[in-house]
Parts: sequence; structure tokens; C-alpha cells
Amino acid sequence: MVEFVINKLRSGGLITNYFCTSSCKHCLYNCSPHWERRYIDPDTAEKNLKTIRALGCRSVHIGGGEPLLRPDKLGTVLEIAAGVGVSVEYVETNSSWFRDIESAKALLSRLRPKGLRTLLVSISPFHNEQIPFSKVQGVIEAAGQVGVGIFPWITDFVSDLSQLDPAKTHCLDEYRQLFGDNYLMQILQRYWIHLGGRALETFRPLLGEKTSQQIIAENPAGCAAELTDTSHFHIDLFGNYIPGLCSGLAISKDALGTPLSTERYPILMDLYHNGIRGLFEFAEKNYAFSPQRIDYINKCDLCTEIRTHLVINDYNQSNELKPAEFYMNLA
Ligand code: SF4
Ligand code: SF4
Repeated sequence: MVEFVINKLRSGGLITNYFCTSSCKHCLYNCSPHWERRYIDPDTAEKNLKTIRALGCRSVHIGGGEPLLRPDKLGTVLEIAAGVGVSVEYVETNSSWFRDIESAKALLSRLRPKGLRTLLVSISPFHNEQIPFSKVQGVIEAAGQVGVGIFPWITDFVSDLSQLDPAKTHCLDEYRQLFGDNYLMQILQRYWIHLGGRALETFRPLLGEKTSQQIIAENPAGCAAELTDTSHFHIDLFGNYIPGLCSGLAISKDALGTPLSTERYPILMDLYHNGIRGLFEFAEKNYAFSPQRIDYINKCDLCTEIRTHLVINDYNQSNELKPAEFYMNLA
């Protein structure tokens, strides 16, 4: 039987915190203000970054949550990255922390010598539900004045956001009224959104049309390809490696580089070999799982519902379904 092992990392990031000022309707990691206000500690940051480097990856991005909610701690992480020989390509920000140009310049000027070269600035209607566009514009201006690069994600939405009052927040319904009823569907063509995490709730009314049996019949294979994809990996503040884009699943960073065992990772091994059918049968037999919907989008939608059921029903035989707050912040 083929072993499940992650022994090389291609491209990815460090999650410093899950708490966020926002609770965007497309957030893959279900970040929100309701998470514990916990930020990565220096020791974990160093160990994570050393693991990343040892597995062949020499640059990362830093994301969250909102990493700039604790700028001093972010500065320490940047210094640690430089110290272990991992370069930081960019730090993601939603710009919610912006107050005025001078204070933003001061903050970014403090971080720049520590290793802040580029900010990935989020620009989208999802973010605009809770963050005025004027704050985003302010961060871009301040960064430009102090020599920090900007990676706008994505510029395509600038024209949409510019049609509404930049000093205020605007809900998705306002965008629907302005750009048409199929605005959310259009977004899927314009913006990279992985249909996992909170995006499942948001897009299910538009895309969900399958029963659990259809999902299982259409996905007979295991999830090996997704779980071993390291092209956009993340390791978080708890020292957990998130396999692929499967948010809510966790592998201890200490288990990377060696084959995973069924004893320690029963659910991940089942998903790897048997896919959604294996997880469904396990949960049905042992945890009285019965599907709650007839409008699943895809196998990851059903997988997330089953895993949530297991967490709620005290499945505690492994540490694979983490962080627990992921499952408490779905909506
Ligand atoms: S997408 Fe970004 S800004 Fe939005 S909730 Fe998630 S981490 Fe926060
Ligand atoms: S079904 Fe689960 S394990 Fe498989 S790709 Fe989707 S989220 Fe990952």
C-alpha cells in the first residue's frame, strides 16, 4: 500500500494567528473575531520555519487571520525567518488596522527593517463587507511612501469597490443590486476561491445540488492527490501542518518527513486511501452520522459536515481534526 508521507514542501505560508477583525464569507480557515486571541510564539515560529526549510522550501508568505493585529509579534517572526534562512515573500493584510497615513507609515517603517518587503493587500467585495475601501487605499499609500511593496489581491475588484462610498462598508447585496443577481457567480470566475471553509456556506445556495450518495458515487478514489499537494501549504501557530487546502485537518509538523501511521492519523489515512466514502462509512457506523443536506457542493462540503459532526460528538481519538475553533466558526 502506498505510504502517506509529506517529505518535500514546494510553496506555502506560516499562519501566525486565526483571530481576525473580519469574518469574510469566503474564508477558507473560518477566521473571525471570535477565535481566541492567540498569536504564534517565537519558539513555534522558529521550529515551523526550520521544518519548512529542512523540507526544501526557502521562502514563505505570512498569513492569518490578520497578522498585523500584533505588529510587534509579527516583527519578531520576520526576524526569526531571516535568522533561519527563510525569506518572507509577503505578509497578507486586510488593512483593518489602518487609522491614518502617519500612523500606518510609522508601523510599516518599524517592520520594514525586520524583513517586511511586500504586503499582500486584500481587495474584494467579501472584505469590503467589514472593511471600508478607504482603509485599503490608505495602506497602499502609506506602504508606497515608506518603500514597502504592494501585492494587490486583486486589482480586478478596484473598479467595483470604487463605485461605492469608500468611507463605508458595503454588503454583498449592495454589489448584487449594482452589478446584477449573478454577481456572486461572476466572482467565482474572477477570483481564486477554494470551495472549503466558509465559502461552502456562501456558495451552497448557488452551487449545491447533490446528495451524499451522489457525492460518494462520483468520488470513488482516495484524496491522496489533494492531501499531498504542497503547492500552497500552511503550518500554523499550533505547529500543525494543514494538508493541501483541507482546512480543519491537521498533521503535527513533527510528523512530516516520515510515513503517517494509522494509529496516530486514522481519519487522514482513511481519507488518503478511501476518500469521502471511507470517512462517511466510518462516521455512519461509529458516530451515527446521517447526512443533513441534499444540496452538497462537492466532496469537501460533505467531508466538512462529517468532520464537524465528529468534533461535536466528542471524537477524540486523534489530533487530526484541529483547530477545534475551525469547526465552531463555520458560519
Ligand atoms: S479572508 Fe482574511 S480578512 Fe477575511 S476573515 Fe479570513 S483571514 Fe480574515
Ligand atoms: S474530501 Fe476532505 S480530505 Fe478530500 S480533498 Fe476534500 S476536504 Fe480534503
